Amino acid sequence: MTVGLVVVSHSRPLAEAAVDLAQEMLHGKQIPIEVAAGLDERTFGTDAVAIVDAITAADHGDGAVVLMDLGSAVLSAELALELLDDEVRERVVLCPAPLVEGLVVAAVAAGGGAPAAEVAAEASGALAGKLAQLGGDVEQAATDTAVEGLSAKFVVVNPHGLHARPAARLVQEVRGRDAEVRIRNPRTGSAWIDAASLSKIATLGVRSGDEVDVQVSGPQAADVLEHILALAARHFDETPSTSTPPEPLAKGRPIGAGPGLGIGPAWSVRAGTVEVPGHRGEDPAAEWRSLTAAVDDVRTAIADVRAHTARAVGEAEASIFDAHALLLDDDALLGAAKNRIEKGHNAAAAWAAAVSEVADQFAAVDDAYLQARADDVRAVGDQVLRTLLGHVAPTAAATGVLVAADLSPAEAAELDPTQVAAVLLAFGSATAHNVILLRAKGIPVIVGAGRAVLAIADGTTVAVDGTRGEYLVDPPDDVRREFEARVAAAAQQHREAVTRTREPAITRDGVTVKVGANIGSVDDARAAASQGADFAGLVRTEFLFLGREQAPDVDEQLAVYRKIAESLEGRRITLRTLDVGGDKPLAFLPTPAEPNPYLGVRGIRLALAHSQLLSDQLLAMARLSRHTPVSIMFPMVSTVDELLAARRVLDDALRRVGPQAADLQVGMMVEVPAAALKAAAFAPHVDFFSIGTNDLTQYTMAADRNNDAVASLGDAFDPAVLHLVRSTCQGAAGRASVSVCGEFAADNRAAALLLGLGVDALSVTPPAIPATKDAVRAVDSGEARQLAAAALSAADAAAVRSQFG
Ligand code: PEP
Ligand code: MG
Repeated sequence: MTVGLVVVSHSRPLAEAAVDLAQEMLHGKQIPIEVAAGLDERTFGTDAVAIVDAITAADHGDGAVVLMDLGSAVLSAELALELLDDEVRERVVLCPAPLVEGLVVAAVAAGGGAPAAEVAAEASGALAGKLAQLGGDVEQAATDTAVEGLSAKFVVVNPHGLHARPAARLVQEVRGRDAEVRIRNPRTGSAWIDAASLSKIATLGVRSGDEVDVQVSGPQAADVLEHILALAARHFDETPSTSTPPEPLAKGRPIGAGPGLGIGPAWSVRAGTVEVPGHRGEDPAAEWRSLTAAVDDVRTAIADVRAHTARAVGEAEASIFDAHALLLDDDALLGAAKNRIEKGHNAAAAWAAAVSEVADQFAAVDDAYLQARADDVRAVGDQVLRTLLGHVAPTAAATGVLVAADLSPAEAAELDPTQVAAVLLAFGSATAHNVILLRAKGIPVIVGAGRAVLAIADGTTVAVDGTRGEYLVDPPDDVRREFEARVAAAAQQHREAVTRTREPAITRDGVTVKVGANIGSVDDARAAASQGADFAGLVRTEFLFLGREQAPDVDEQLAVYRKIAESLEGRRITLRTLDVGGDKPLAFLPTPAEPNPYLGVRGIRLALAHSQLLSDQLLAMARLSRHTPVSIMFPMVSTVDELLAARRVLDDALRRVGPQAADLQVGMMVEVPAAALKAAAFAPHVDFFSIGTNDLTQYTMAADRNNDAVASLGDAFDPAVLHLVRSTCQGAAGRASVSVCGEFAADNRAAALLLGLGVDALSVTPPAIPATKDAVRAVDSGEARQLAAAALSAADAAAVRSQFG
């Protein structure tokens, strides 16, 4: 059952914005919502005929609920009701709820499959949360008694408690199930309320840290309770960007976070501090107009950066800018600025004071999430101030080597790679969003260089080696010339590498080494083909499953795998079965929170625990393998039993699809030290090993790959990691081939080491293919073996790196 919603308002922008807000609560679920608002984009008014059209579009047979704003909106809706056919009219409810609150609650209820009358009743109670919060009279529709059934507790750790978005996720989980769920907040002594009602959840006032009692009864009680507890453990699927952000940490030593070389005059971000004029604002109306115009311009600029980032880097990175856009509509900021303008301040001074006041309020709160919002307020505030005063942002105009404490994502997104030779950050983390954006632009970056770099005077020559994490300040002339020559040579080399990237990579002594691509989407597959990939060495199939309400079925999977294969024009594709777990939960699988998700139920462990998921995936892969060369590999394998169990599921899938083309290959990732050390035991059961150095390094060095405090420990050059690569190659001993698909394979110094250790093939991100092929072409197998032998007897990563001069 899907009830449609109709929003009737005098203002089209108002209605559309209310719909956007409601859709936020649906977490991707689609329900019909139609708007009948304004006479056109700008003219206020309502029109009964437009309302009839909207109702007709929203009602797919299960009825529609109409929400209205003021006065004549209600009259027009009543008139529209009269114009409808009798049969349709019976399914339509005009709902007296307040428009915005009502629409949000109605959307969640309709998204959960409630019938029209229930959607309207839910919406009508939408003010209850606000009334409870502000101490008004709430008509207590809740019951004081719990239901018979299962009971449990969960703790809400979301920074803002069970606010609208997490509450909407809870409602989604509960609605449409054959179970009655009641919750209460013992801290406030609340009554038990129905957890299928967003408006009633709002009355509980659940804050971060509150323990919530839950009671579930009905046929699906056990299953629903398991889902609720898993959802709570996953923080109601709020993304990390809206929960506590990591603290910037000073590092022990600088870290190369974006590869490449760059040299140029230092350009420090502090150079661009804006002078705020102090004169009186003579005409408050004119000052207010210029402030709102600047805010509008910044809103457009943020939308452009967001769209560009979504295309160039990805939706997750782009969503960072949503918080910035929301701040521009924040009453606290605009209201405070308006007050000051009315008291005679000029627009810039009023805005600057309001920004600083609001940012200070955030910074003073004892909560890391809210403190981090202070930086957002200042970043957006600065952007508006510069627009108002006609100053360009220091980062937008940056040239040479940009030196800063850290950069906001917006600043990073603004940098022009043809102007900025490199970025040197005093703090920051290699995995932070700003650095991901810089890497995507190909700008060399060093993070964690320490506070001292902030004292580098503007204009001083700085040379940055973003691959090695080394930089030189004001190098002597001869060193500078030499570095400039290296930069020019590297650029020339890259251009040449691109021209020969479609040719095979053959070592100096005649060994052909296949260089493949790591792929996480169909677009990546196209990029891989255009960069000259010899094969796809790793297709991360997670992209098909994450953020989905339901697993993709066999046909959908097959269609996507086929598109990838077609984009690669018949080259072999290596499909890895799903590698998710406690660190990357699937919305459709309740996975309990684990204290150490990387050591928990992930990869093959999760797949074997949910064998339907695995068998569907293997069926899609087996079907594809009848038409195109396919390799299938299993992630995170640590025991032979796991491999054999997965192979049995594969054998079953192969039997179901019938006779095979001959070139299906089966292999496994080597990401766990146990697998590397036992390679000889695995070898009879696989055609190939693919070493995932990202995970192999974190498990070998006991250094979480996402924790920048231990980033310098997680170094794949460490001889311990190299010993495990060697052990894998020895265990394979001609029975199985060995490739490397971790990030390490894209480090040009790694090619000789890995080939010397016995690796047969490499797989890297598509843009790294030309340089990796060239690195292979520079290798001599005999020299590489000597290099590898020396590396194996080195004491640490630094000693291995020093072998490369
Ligand atoms: C790896 O661990 O090196 C690997 C390639 O897998 P992922 O990065 O997807 O974990
Ligand atoms: Mg891995």
